[in-house]
Parts: sequence; structure tokens; C-alpha cells
Amino acid sequence: MGRRTRNPIKALGEVVWGAVAGLWTVLIHLFRKPITEQYPEYKRPLPIRSRARIILTLDPDGGERCVACYLCSAVCPVTCISMEGEDRNNRRMARWFRINFARCIFCGLCEEACPTLAIQLTPDYEMCEYDLLSMVAEKEDLLVNHGGKDGEYNYYRYAGVTTLGDKGTHVQEERPVNIRSNMP
Ligand code: SF4
Ligand code: SF4
Repeated sequence: MGRRTRNPIKALGEVVWGAVAGLWTVLIHLFRKPITEQYPEYKRPLPIRSRARIILTLDPDGGERCVACYLCSAVCPVTCISMEGEDRNNRRMARWFRINFARCIFCGLCEEACPTLAIQLTPDYEMCEYDLLSMVAEKEDLLVNHGGKDGEYNYYRYAGVTTLGDKGTHVQEERPVNIRSNMP
């Protein structure tokens, strides 16, 4: 089978047409209004679900939502959340809570895992620093004075307050099983 040769006139026409089409596109855009956004003079408003700076929110009564369950810390793929829990005033909370934003990849898994809506990501993306250590945020840096995306949610209204008496003495609570009576 013989080798097919390309028509040189046709090939030249395609090249010229490609160049003309490209120049035409450039010409059109020369007279269009530029759409470049002049950051930081102009800051584009981002959707509420954008994932940037992380906050710790409060419930509607003003109490801290975080119950130091460690779920966010466990699910974080880069292990940048650490804390220590404590019981205070019949509530479970974090004695200290720390996020290393220099490692955070803003995946949002911590927010997904949190049962109390305490930890939330916000659209605030302006958090770069020259000094990496200054990107380590402590609990006082993370706590805000509102409920974030759902200000009405109160975890304790659903889960109850910590035990104030023995097991089985609360309303609608059954006595615990005596494991010794179950032994053969
Ligand atoms: S957003 Fe992702 S990487 Fe950042 S703290 Fe949460 S789980 Fe970790
Ligand atoms: S922020 Fe949420 S998931 Fe993390 S320890 Fe507190 S309650 Fe648990």
C-alpha cells in the first residue's frame, strides 16, 4: 500500500486559518472589559461553605460546644488537631485545643466528624504568615462568640447533661446489667 501524501496547499491553508483565527480572538478580547479582580483591593465574597479558617463555636446558651471527644483529631488526615479533655461544671470540654494551620489542608473532615457542630470551617482565607509557628492556633484564638452556620443547634439538648447520679437513676433510664449475674 502506497504512502498517502498530504496536499501542501490544504496544509498551508489550515496553518494560515489557525493563525488568523487566533489573531481574531486576541483582537476581540482587546476591546473587552478586563475581568481581572484586583486583590486585595477587591475581595470576592465566597460561599458560606467555603473551607478556610477554622473556628470553635458556641451553643445558643453561650456554652462551649466542644466536648473534647477527639473525633476531629482522629479523622484529621494530617494530624494537625490536638487537645486535652476535662470535666468541668458537669460538662465535658477541652482544657486546651490546638490546630496547626501550617499543616491543615482544609479538607473539612473535622467539621464532618464533629457531633456538636463545634468545629467549623469559614470562608476567611487570609491567614498566611511568614513565621510558621505563628500559624499554630490555641483554643482562645479559635473560639468565637456565636454558633456559626447553625446558631440554634445545642448538642446538650439532644444528648443530655453529664450524669448527676448513679447509672439507672435518671428519667427513663434502665438499671445497668449486672455482669456478674450473667456469668455461667
Ligand atoms: S480541615 Fe482537614 S486537615 Fe484541616 S484540621 Fe480539619 S481535618 Fe485536619
Ligand atoms: S471539635 Fe467536635 S469533634 Fe472535635 S473534639 Fe470538639 S466536639 Fe469532638
